[in-house]
Order: sequence, then structure tokens, then C-alpha cells
Amino acid sequence: MATVNKDYSVEEKLVSVLRLQKMDSRLDEIQVLKGELPMEVKDLEDEIEGLNTRLSHVEDEIRGIQDFISNKKNQIKESEALIKKYEKQQDNVKNNREFEAITKELEMQSLEIKLAEKHIRDANDEVKDKSRSLESAKRTIAEKEANLKHKKGELEKIIGETEKEEKAFRKQSDEARAKVEPRLLAAYEKIRKNYRNGLAVATVVRDSCGGCFNAIPPQRQAEIRQRKKIIICEHCGRVLVDNDLEATVTI
Ligand SMILES: [Zn+2]
Repeated sequence: MATVNKDYSVEEKLVSVLRLQKMDSRLDEIQVLKGELPMEVKDLEDEIEGLNTRLSHVEDEIRGIQDFISNKKNQIKESEALIKKYEKQQDNVKNNREFEAITKELEMQSLEIKLAEKHIRDANDEVKDKSRSLESAKRTIAEKEANLKHKKGELEKIIGETEKEEKAFRKQSDEARAKVEPRLLAAYEKIRKNYRNGLAVATVVRDSCGGCFNAIPPQRQAEIRQRKKIIICEHCGRVLVDNDLEATVTI
């Protein structure tokens, strides 16, 4: 940062902070023009990312259930093979006990098959549910993506229109900032942050502070016009300048 000449007169200090205020106000105007768009774009991008993550989780879950279903189908095939084997054995049994043992095995395998079939039915229902939520998530993502595209387009248009201006004002604001006395600059930055309109330097408007609209006594107005010391609004803390000075600082 450039060193500030300590011998600047009060008037020069006021001019430099006023010039800075004007540059910053123009930059603020550009931000107002962009409005909530940068935030909305960021929010939408985050939302879409979150939805895509959820989507791939659901897809993983569906794959998991489908694996489960094919395992159960294999189990059924194995049981059917066993049943065929046992039925053949039953034709060649030597005694009742052997026959009963095989019958038990046969019953068990057909129970296994029934159980696996039930598991498959339940799993298929689950796949259907998950597929439905997958489709609705996909539709939501598509809607949000269209919205994002629209908002991005709007933002890019504004950026395109204001980029050159913003760059120029940014440069001039930096230059003006370097010329403001450090203590005054610190006060300026602090006041600017406190007010939504970013106004830290105000003019006298109809005998009142142009920032907070509280009345300024005639004696104080005279002091402001004299530019012998920096006058701060006792209500809002803004630096006060007279209208003539305001008119001389053009950007
Ligand atoms: Zn005020």
C-alpha cells in the first residue's frame, strides 16, 4: 500500500475518502444488480451435487438387491437339483427309515425354495420402490439443472455487461483507498460494514445527515462547510461532507 502523506489538509482527506465512497458505491450497485444470483447458483450447484450423491447410493442399493435376488435364484436351482436327486434315491430305498429320511430332506428343500421365493418377491418390491424414488430424484435433478442453467445464464449476462465497469471501478477504488489516511480508512471500512447501503460518507441533505436523516444543527453545518476538521454524524457515525465538496468529486 502506498504511504500516505501526513501533511494532507482536511479537505484533501475528505476528497479522498469521498472519492473512495463513490467508487465503492458504484461497485455496490453492480453487486445489487447481480442480486442473489451468485448465492442461488451456488446453492443449486450444492443441491444437485447432494442429489447426485444420493442417486448413486440408491443405484448401489438396487445393484445390491439384484445380487441378492440372483443368489436366491441360484439357491432355488440348487434345491431343485437336490429334490431331483432325492426323488431318484427314494425310488431305490431299502427300508422305511431311509425313505422317511429322504422325505424329510425333500420337505426341507421345498421349504427352502418357498422361503427363497418369498425373499425374491420382497426384494423385487424393494427394487420397484427404489426405482421409483430413483426416477423422481432424476426428475428433480433435471428440473434443478434447468433452473441452474437459467440462473447461470442470467448471471453470466450481468457479469458480461458489468465486468469491464467493475474492473475499472475496482482499480479506481484501490487507488482511492491507497490515498486515504489510514485512521480515516479504518473508520470508513468499519462504518461501511455497519450499514446495508454501505454508505460511510454522507452529505447534508435538507439540514439533516444524508445517511441517517437526523437533523444537523446550523453551527455544525457551518463547521462541515469550513472543512477544517473531519465532522462525524453524532447519530450514525458517518463522515459528513458539504454538498459543494460532494459536487467537486466526480468519477
Ligand atoms: Zn447520520
